[in-house]
Amino acid sequence: EITINKIAAGEVVERPSSIVKELVENSIDAGADRIIIEVENGGKSLIKITDNGCGIPSSEVKKCFLRHATSKIDKIDDLFNLFTLGFRGEALASICAVSKLEMTTKFEDEAVGTKITLVGGNIEAKEAVGANTGTSIVIKDLFFNTPARKKFLKTDHAELMNITDIVNKLAIGYPNVKFRYLNAGKLMVNTPGDGKLVSAVRSIYSREVSENLIEINYDCSLFKIDGYIGNNNIYRSNRNLQHIYINGRFVKSKIIYDAIANAYKSIIPINKHAVCFINLHLDPQKVDVNIHPGKIEVKFEKENEIKLEIMEYIRAKLLKQSLI
Ligand code: ADP
Ligand code: MG
Repeated sequence: EITINKIAAGEVVERPSSIVKELVENSIDAGADRIIIEVENGGKSLIKITDNGCGIPSSEVKKCFLRHATSKIDKIDDLFNLFTLGFRGEALASICAVSKLEMTTKFEDEAVGTKITLVGGNIEAKEAVGANTGTSIVIKDLFFNTPARKKFLKTDHAELMNITDIVNKLAIGYPNVKFRYLNAGKLMVNTPGDGKLVSAVRSIYSREVSENLIEINYDCSLFKIDGYIGNNNIYRSNRNLQHIYINGRFVKSKIIYDAIANAYKSIIPINKHAVCFINLHLDPQKVDVNIHPGKIEVKFEKENEIKLEIMEYIRAKLLKQSLI
């Protein structure tokens, strides 16, 4: 079982940033609205995630480190009706197999919390402790027992940049959650958690970006779209400021990149990338997030119709804007 988890970890836990993503998504699934992310040495020596979510009942604590242990799929039907970010039950099993992990958690309906310690996937200790409702997970010495994979990691700085990128995407995707992100004790990100996308964009990127956005909001039978697109002042040479979320999940979608690019190009001849922070809401039954374990690439039904409709909506929005 542990060997299988070590192998599986290669898919789910490629690097520190993938661990941060999985753990923060678990916190979001647990209903947290405050999440603290602390890292040291690019996450290689320490990753700590603290949330104020619902916590884990003491009787369930061991179970969540087992492979395919997910509390999120009750019936198989749920797989096609996915509203939570996690569903594979692979993350914790994979992460604990290749690290030294300590979790303290207290379930909202229980008086006492639990602290559990695992080394390379083996439970070393479990005890009752006093704790606030929520969960805190500490991951130390990533890949200590898989040296080949450890060697494959990039420099601390490069790994840190990857983590920062993931935190930025999550924080903008969840403006109702207050994110605090610290590297070696130094505050890197601190979003207000006021539910406003623009506030999150301002605290993560800049006032300049947040002040050059056009609000979008469109609802048709196929989909709903909301968020912001950049105005004429803030193009970028890369896609770093193109955030697209489908049902709350950050995705890379060529269909939507193209829709946006075509809308801008139809008005202004430009070969740079527009800025956008877009939430696309689709019937979860019509989205397939299951094609990649990192869950970044997606497929959905009626892609071409959706692409065209988004293109036309954004084009109309831009035209209206330039008349003002
Ligand atoms: P998945 O998210 O796919 O269900 P994970 O391995 O990420 O699988 O987590 C396993 C289970 O552990 C989750 O289904 C959930 O019940 C529990 N869990 C993990 N992290 C948290 C958290 N921060 N708060 C509450 N429950 C959690
Ligand atoms: Mg998960």
